[in-house]
Amino acid sequence: MKRILIANRGEIALRALRTIQEMGKEAVVVYSTADKDALYVKYADASICIGPARSSDSYLNIPAIISAAQISESDAIFPGYGFLSENQTFVEICEKENIKFIGPNLSAMALMSDKSKAKSFMKRAGVPVVPGSDGALKDVAEAEKLADEMGYPVILKAAAGGGGRGMRVVHKKEDLEKNFWSAESEALSAFGDGTMYIEKYIQNPRHIEVQIIGDEYGNVIHVGERDCSMQRRHQKLIEESPATILDDKTRQNLHQTAIKAAKSIGYAGAGTFEFLYDSCSNEFYFIEMNTRLQVEHCVSEMVSGIDIVEWMIRVAEGEKLPNQDDIKFRGHSIECRITAEDPKSFTPNPGKITKCITPNGRNVRFDSHIYEGYSVPPYYDSMIGKLIVHADDRNKAIAKMKVALNELIIGGIKTTRNFHLNMMENEDFITNNYDTNYLVKH
Ligand code: ADP
Repeated sequence: MKRILIANRGEIALRALRTIQEMGKEAVVVYSTADKDALYVKYADASICIGPARSSDSYLNIPAIISAAQISESDAIFPGYGFLSENQTFVEICEKENIKFIGPNLSAMALMSDKSKAKSFMKRAGVPVVPGSDGALKDVAEAEKLADEMGYPVILKAAAGGGGRGMRVVHKKEDLEKNFWSAESEALSAFGDGTMYIEKYIQNPRHIEVQIIGDEYGNVIHVGERDCSMQRRHQKLIEESPATILDDKTRQNLHQTAIKAAKSIGYAGAGTFEFLYDSCSNEFYFIEMNTRLQVEHCVSEMVSGIDIVEWMIRVAEGEKLPNQDDIKFRGHSIECRITAEDPKSFTPNPGKITKCITPNGRNVRFDSHIYEGYSVPPYYDSMIGKLIVHADDRNKAIAKMKVALNELIIGGIKTTRNFHLNMMENEDFITNNYDTNYLVKH
């Protein structure tokens, strides 16, 4: 591959661009009119405007992106996360047009994209899953019957779900029906698919996921696990690696389970198996697989020393993966997602950045596309950067994160920096005594 088109924006476009250029390849970027002043546009080897601000007219506009790839004579497309990264039609068209999609093959993507089907498949492959419906629910009556059998609380989930949408926790029978309808309609409007499934609601779990990479020869390696339990409305805010709550035996078991799961679908490329971990029973359960690069991949890069984007590209070029033993894990890494939001209410606060001083120093990484004078557009996700640190152990990583957050000064807009600063001083976070519902309870 000589030239790769990045079909994304923001920090991830910049992050991918760096690796592509480091590999001696050319990075072509696409942008909407709202992103014409973005940093990744300035640094690209070539840039093509693909439409107006609205995502559906630009970053989700398949004909515009395919044309951009053809005009620029790009050999491949790097999708990043969100937008078209898990869009099967897009992958199909790339294949037809002879443009390499840097991601898994269509069949693996299709299988994992329906979360209820993915669960049934993984269950048959011997992977532990949360008890619940085997596949999609026919109707409310079936949901009621299963909930009665499992016992409350239960969680209704959209098969096409993502970002915590189309999900409802139900504590008692009387509330099931209305939650079913509201989750279904939310899923319909967000994903164009109202297929629902039901699961036992695991009380106070940790969200722990395993990063894997597969190649085209059936090899799969893991790049360790991440703990993403600090969430708000089922959306991740802080991620770390390793998950120090696990003992070594459970950790190894989890890694091997993810590798087995990836092999069962012939997975090539980078992917993540997400699990809920019940620390009381020391059991973990598969919830879903993401067939793309994830926002929080950086913490895995920090502890393993490997560049996951580089390996996505190398695998797409037909290269063989290194051996598992060649990947050595060291220290502890934490990531804080910095968003242009009010740190208390989390309401979006786009606008012009009038001051921007970014942290620095040993093992401090700020993956971000912002700069002084940059205007955060209101049209997209409010994440403006990821602050990532690496240190010898968790306590040192927390201490380093605190220093780095204090160095981060963003003026003109509200950001969640202070939320993260509070968390780094929070006794429960420091002692690792929290779960996915922590912010609801406190
Ligand atoms: P999405 O694809 O929308 O992100 P996930 O299935 O990955 O949805 O779940 C997101 C989060 O929702 C999990 O990290 C966890 O906090 C919560 N969750 C999902 N399923 C369950 C469950 N069965 N029990 C308890 N919490 C759950």
